[in-house]
Amino acid sequence: MSETARATRTNWAGNLVYQAREIRAPRTVEEAQELVAHAPRVKALGSRHSFNKVADSPDGLQLELSGLDVPTTIDPAAATVTLGGGVRYSDVVEQIHQAGFALANLASLPHITVAGSVVTGTHGSGQHQPGLASAVSAVELLTADGELHTFTRAGDPDVFPGVVVNAGALGVLTRLTLDLEPAFDVRQDAFDTLHWTTAVERFDEIQAAGYSVSMFTDWARDAVDQVLLKNRVPADVPGTLFGAVPADGPRHPAHAAGVSSENTTVQGGVPGPWYDRLPHFRVGFAPSVGAELQSEYFVPRAHAAAAFDALRGIGDRIAELVLVSEIRTLAADDLWLSPGYGGDRVALHFTWQHRQPEVEALLPLLEERLRPFGVRAHWGKLLHGSPLEEGHSGLPKFRALAQRLDPDGKFRNPFLDRLVFGEPA
Ligand SMILES: Cc1cc2nc3c(=O)[nH]c(=O)nc-3n(C[C@H](O)[C@H](O)[C@H](O)COP(=O)(O)OP(=O)(O)OC[C@H]3O[C@@H](n4cnc5c(N)ncnc54)[C@H](O)[C@@H]3O)c2cc1C
Repeated sequence: MSETARATRTNWAGNLVYQAREIRAPRTVEEAQELVAHAPRVKALGSRHSFNKVADSPDGLQLELSGLDVPTTIDPAAATVTLGGGVRYSDVVEQIHQAGFALANLASLPHITVAGSVVTGTHGSGQHQPGLASAVSAVELLTADGELHTFTRAGDPDVFPGVVVNAGALGVLTRLTLDLEPAFDVRQDAFDTLHWTTAVERFDEIQAAGYSVSMFTDWARDAVDQVLLKNRVPADVPGTLFGAVPADGPRHPAHAAGVSSENTTVQGGVPGPWYDRLPHFRVGFAPSVGAELQSEYFVPRAHAAAAFDALRGIGDRIAELVLVSEIRTLAADDLWLSPGYGGDRVALHFTWQHRQPEVEALLPLLEERLRPFGVRAHWGKLLHGSPLEEGHSGLPKFRALAQRLDPDGKFRNPFLDRLVFGEPA
């Protein structure tokens, strides 16, 4: 097993330095078991794309699992893939495609680990698409005592909904099994300038126009800058979209802020495999903008229009700091800590300039504006957190499960203590 030098302890965005005492990189599940059993405090570390301290283990141990010797296996009869706890989507999507299969959805980037994504409730877009964790049908969880436990969707219906989206608070996922479906192709079509009044009035029709739909805005201008439709082909793509016109070239999500499109996946209606169209950003390129921070909030879809009003009411404050904001939808699921637990949601994402003090000063106001709607926040992005307790109806069940699986809090940290377990800061 190898040790990673302290010098590499920043997250992807570089806005935080992990405070863990050491990072270890076990090569086998047995080595991981040994390390967990003997560590007083431990957390798994994925590809470090989270913007907050959810993955940190102050004065404890972080486990980096990319070298774990768990093979990726596809079971064609069951239409599933089983993979290790350190695998990134980009490591496996081509193998899945070559076997004739696809994942139903992906996030905006494939550079992130499957385990790190599902535990934070990571999602793509699409009104019929739940978060990525919904594809998980079984997990192997390494718990505080160093033992392995397998939980399956079919066999453990009482606890499985609490085990998958767990914010890293239950243990280390060493293996995950995901549902697959037959491979499919997707085309992307970008449309410019959708007036806000139309965006609100025709919201349901706009969401129905794509398998996955993203609307990009800064909340201050009169129009949504851009709408990106991703459709499985063959598709009937409209010539114009409620007044928005087809883009005359590829569009980066932050196009209106002047960001060029070289790291984006192919648009312009050109069909391509699911794994090269569902993410906005291409493998082999740095995703998104780079020098940035992110936050994301979820409100019930029924409150979409009111939530848009609430944000547009502070649009000038947001626009001072935001590079781009993305509006997506996600379908309901039954996973207790998921943004979609219990009902369809609208996701309100913010890619901020790398100005953390100013962003953190704005978040309480932003959360207060969304509070009346039962807001939830993304577990992997910057948040203030005060109204979370009200929005997350699955928290009480989750806390009871965590008490059972991790009674001494080996996998807890100050972020989880405050935001998941409701302890004072
Ligand atoms: C450019 C960019 C674009 C993004 N786009 C999206 C998007 O489209 N949609 C979206 O929802 N989110 C998005 N995110 C957020 C991202 O999906 C989450 O932060 C996700 O958690 C990142 O996964 P990771 O592997 O980097 O996890 P880390 O940040 O390394 O860790 C996150 C959590 O996962 C836990 N963890 C990691 N591995 C394991 C394991 N094996 N077992 C148990 N726990 C584990 C950690 O302990 C920690 O609690 C984006 C982030 C960036 C930087």
